[in-house]
Amino acid sequence: MKRVYNFAAGPSMLPQEALEQAAREMLDFGGTGMCAMEMSHRSKQYQAIFDETEALLRELMHIPDTYSVLFLQGGATGQFAAIPMNLMTGSGTADYVDSGNFAHGAMVEAKKYGSVSVVASSKDDGYAYIPALDPAAFNPNADYFYITTNNTIFGTRYSTLPETGNVPLVADMSSNILSEVFDINRFGVAYAGAQKNVGPAGLTIVIVRRDLLGRAMPNTPKIMDWTLMTEKGSMLNTPPTYAIYMAGLCMKWLKKQGGVEGIEKVNIAKAKLLYDALDDSDFYIAKARPESRSRMNVTFTTPSPELDAEFVKAAAAQDMVSLKGHRLVGGIRASIYNAMPVEGVEKLVKFMKEFEVRNK
Ligand SMILES: *Cc1c(COP(=O)(O)O)cnc(C)c1O
Repeated sequence: MKRVYNFAAGPSMLPQEALEQAAREMLDFGGTGMCAMEMSHRSKQYQAIFDETEALLRELMHIPDTYSVLFLQGGATGQFAAIPMNLMTGSGTADYVDSGNFAHGAMVEAKKYGSVSVVASSKDDGYAYIPALDPAAFNPNADYFYITTNNTIFGTRYSTLPETGNVPLVADMSSNILSEVFDINRFGVAYAGAQKNVGPAGLTIVIVRRDLLGRAMPNTPKIMDWTLMTEKGSMLNTPPTYAIYMAGLCMKWLKKQGGVEGIEKVNIAKAKLLYDALDDSDFYIAKARPESRSRMNVTFTTPSPELDAEFVKAAAAQDMVSLKGHRLVGGIRASIYNAMPVEGVEKLVKFMKEFEVRNK
């Protein structure tokens, strides 16, 4: 059997232990004679899997009962629309920080439902940094304030959260949920597509403070209505059953790593290995500004696009795959989510040094 170090931005590497357990349980989950995939979502057996997964997420992120936790379909992109539909019904306005392609996409979607104000943008410099936020530019009557805590394509991360007072902070955490400790009480809504750092694609996690429920626009589709979904325990229709089961297995693994507190230390160390290698070199160029660097997606280039392509190819020949940068920006991107072992990053750093010597 061959396993590679997979640096893909998402869908991405999963913990081997979780995959092995899924394999063991493929034909017979816990003596039921069924795979979790084959179970009715209305069955007692499946409900137990669902409840355990929610409990694990609440435990790992310290989510109190004042928040509803939803397991939905439709991806983060579905939530780009769900957010305004569920929240933009007070003043009909929202503040957005334009820190990257996904933040921009969320903002464009929200404009269909109300009035959007861009409080800051880093578009001028290719989204290479998290823009400074001036509270004087914030609208105190906005229905919410929107950020993307980690910008997957450009490799940037908020190191401090904005103070938005009574305006609920809404965060797209798709690429750094469960990678670092967040105080969930700072957020009105935190949400994420699972395929970056939680589990397989198909599951979208929405964590919403319960006092924000009951505000949805009347024309909100049922499956996007957080209030209805909360009432129905995420099962107004069929939830992504197997993706939820797999996410649960990944969370069990994460708990054994010392939870989010434990993995955060490992993630800081992994990112440091890579950024130190970039900073020590006059061959590679790190793309994100130092103060905004992501711990999950490390973006860089060699001196030329041709060498970038050669780098990606040569790395793949050594079982380090999917290092090609996003098609919008090119270059190289190493996504090093929770499931990427330190050994994978060490191997990449060693390869980078050898590649530099060969091509300088
Ligand atoms: C990947 C990603 C998305 C899009 O997620 P989908 O599940 O494909 O809709 C949105 N936001 C961020 C930050 C992402 O990394």
